[in-house]
Amino acid sequence: MDEGKRATEEAFRSNEARLEAALQLAEANYAQLERTKSQLRAIIDASQEAMLFLSPDGRPLKVNTRFTDFFGLDDTTVLSQSADQLTALLKGLFVDDNSLDCWLAWSTTDQEHIFREQQVQVRPVRREVDLSSLPVINVDQTYIGRLYVWHDVTHEREVDRIKSEFVSMVSHELRTPLTSIKGSVDLILTDETVGELTELQREFLGITQNNTCRLISITNDLLDLSRMESGKLALHREPLDITLLIGELLPSFQPGWDARRQRFTLHLPEKAPMVLADADRLMQILRNLLSNAHKYTPDEGHIDLSVEIAEPVARVEVTDSGIGLSKEEQAQLFTRFYRAHNAVTKAGGGTGLGLVITRSLVEMQGGEIGVSSEPGHGSTFRFTLPLAV
Ligand code: ADP
Repeated sequence: MDEGKRATEEAFRSNEARLEAALQLAEANYAQLERTKSQLRAIIDASQEAMLFLSPDGRPLKVNTRFTDFFGLDDTTVLSQSADQLTALLKGLFVDDNSLDCWLAWSTTDQEHIFREQQVQVRPVRREVDLSSLPVINVDQTYIGRLYVWHDVTHEREVDRIKSEFVSMVSHELRTPLTSIKGSVDLILTDETVGELTELQREFLGITQNNTCRLISITNDLLDLSRMESGKLALHREPLDITLLIGELLPSFQPGWDARRQRFTLHLPEKAPMVLADADRLMQILRNLLSNAHKYTPDEGHIDLSVEIAEPVARVEVTDSGIGLSKEEQAQLFTRFYRAHNAVTKAGGGTGLGLVITRSLVEMQGGEIGVSSEPGHGSTFRFTLPLAV
């Protein structure tokens, strides 16, 4: 064999060997890829949450096993649907099936935000679910679609309901005997026909009266909170002149302000704003904010209450020159049972429920509540309520 032919054969063999090696590597990579793919699939299928992945034009691309169990739909059927067909297929599985068009449209209309919703599924079984919808961004930063995740919260909601009902029942049962104790103590202290009291008896009964009032206010707070949580708090909203309500409320605060030499100023707009609100609940909002301002402001401090019209709402502000709140404290203010750590909260009673209730009452009436404050420089609590048209 001549030299040239041998060289060609050798080159051919070595190329063949290289190709063989490359093929083996490709096969190994492919096997590895398949393993990773099936592991990912197994991980997604092991999830307790139902998942649906939609393309940027709203077509279903992937579902996990939990999705098919959750909704009683097989994956081949789901994945063969167009965006509209998928909406039609899922409609009827939820109580509010009208919102379905909207949340399935998120995949085509929004590439940035995470959305969360509470939903009630009715078919094939009844479930309370939390839906999260998350944009999915590829490594090269392109938007590749939206992931919808349904989490079954039926059990948690049921436990919450039982807890709320228990708290509601206990508070209700406590309130009746407490009101009766308070009535009797009030009578002994004020009704002369009951008989003469010694100074010491008067002092002890005064302590009993204060503590009974505190217990009644705590049970009322607990009752309100459980009613709000179970959606059983009924509101009777009507057009109200807010300045009249303020006028009714202020006399009950005057003795407290006088006793601590706190200066109160009222700022009202020229034209009385008519708001759409529940009179008792609006009183409760104002009472909570004013009594906090009184409680957390030292002697000789000042408290301002202002009302202004800012179409389409009325804005109410309660400002005090009190102890104030740090940014961290402000962030936790509207959390149940939260009380800031300071000498005033340590010394005085309170449940940490007042502001939670206040916020819910404002929001249930279509308003917003906020706070600005600085430690040592007082606080302003402000809320809005829609104006009656
Ligand atoms: P409570 O007053 O019964 O503790 P609230 O829910 O009304 O409960 O208030 C929660 C906490 O917020 C209070 O414990 C107090 O630390 C803080 N806070 C509320 N209002 C004020 C205020 N005007 N100034 C300073 N701190 C306040």
